Amino acid sequence: MKIKVRGCLDGLAVYQPGKPVEEVKRELGLEEIIKLASNENPLGPSPKAVAAIKAAAAEVNFYPDGSAYRLRQALAARLGVDYNAIIIGNGSNEIVQMLSLALLEPGDEVVMPVPTFPRYEPLARLMGAVPVEVPLKDFRMNIEAMAGRLSSKTKIVYLCNPNNPTGTIATRDEVSSLLERTAPETVVVFDEAYYEYVTRPDYPDGLDYFRKGYNVVVLRTFSKMYGLAGLRVGYAVGPPALIGYLNRVREPFNVNALAQEAALAALQDEEFVALTRKTNEEGKRYLYEAFAARGLPYVPTEANFVFFDAGQDEKVIFRRLLQEGVIVRGGFGYPTHLRVTIGTLPQNARFIKALDKVLTE
Ligand code: PMP
Repeated sequence: MKIKVRGCLDGLAVYQPGKPVEEVKRELGLEEIIKLASNENPLGPSPKAVAAIKAAAAEVNFYPDGSAYRLRQALAARLGVDYNAIIIGNGSNEIVQMLSLALLEPGDEVVMPVPTFPRYEPLARLMGAVPVEVPLKDFRMNIEAMAGRLSSKTKIVYLCNPNNPTGTIATRDEVSSLLERTAPETVVVFDEAYYEYVTRPDYPDGLDYFRKGYNVVVLRTFSKMYGLAGLRVGYAVGPPALIGYLNRVREPFNVNALAQEAALAALQDEEFVALTRKTNEEGKRYLYEAFAARGLPYVPTEANFVFFDAGQDEKVIFRRLLQEGVIVRGGFGYPTHLRVTIGTLPQNARFIKALDKVLTE
């Protein structure tokens, strides 16, 4: 047999998700594992969302609403934007894919920070486009250097704000200066997956630029603050003309019925959002103090994870923590840094206890 695929696939790696927790438990003979690896909500899903899923379960014989009408109406009202400026994705991940499909021709350039969310780069390559990766500076997006890499071939600029895995933000001034230097046909994508966690006053809301008429797309998700990562719901706000093109490349029933109902309910669950924010702030303080007390440098975060310097080979630390029943994430190209999701207080304490054990061996 001879399998002949598109040449651009040769440069593409398969995304490596973590192993299922149950499998890791069995392999390592562990009673309990805490997963602080994927920036999920440690409180579980919004209880209102769970109730909505149960109620909707009896109707999954019907196709979902392919236009996600009620969810888009609710978001339009909440955000004060036009209904036609919103598209819902099977996670914001899928919207990155739709943007690539709709916008990128072979040879086009896509400017992005590195390290960052690991889907921008392969989805650019998939289309034969050229990823232009601009290293972070002091763990922050180097907006000046990114602006310096803009060219007549730049189709998309990704701003991951806050940036994953570092949790840092680009400020309003930085973003404004970049937009002033971006050609009108270049789409600036604000990936705001962690928008709801940010506390800094100089954080730019991508929607402000959208409202001012810039060629920007803002990505948000129900996977983090709303605790629905397993259902896959995200959304984008952008110029209606562009959203119209994204709809042409979208699978007609891309977001399932349970996900739509859950997202609608979670959006109204202010109590859950407030509790998630409080838990995250408390966890942040706890981890900052714990890292400082151990002399471990960390990057102050605006998201629900902390990038910290374990001072030893990150691969070894990752493996040893795993054996102690704590899954974090490494492999970001920094030799001694890892990313830990902020958990509940007991989870954070378990993590620090395991880290102490691992670091003093
Ligand atoms: N963007 C960023 C920056 C992320 O960290 C993530 C999830 N890890 C996503 C997008 C994708 O989120 P989802 O597809 O679950 O909406």
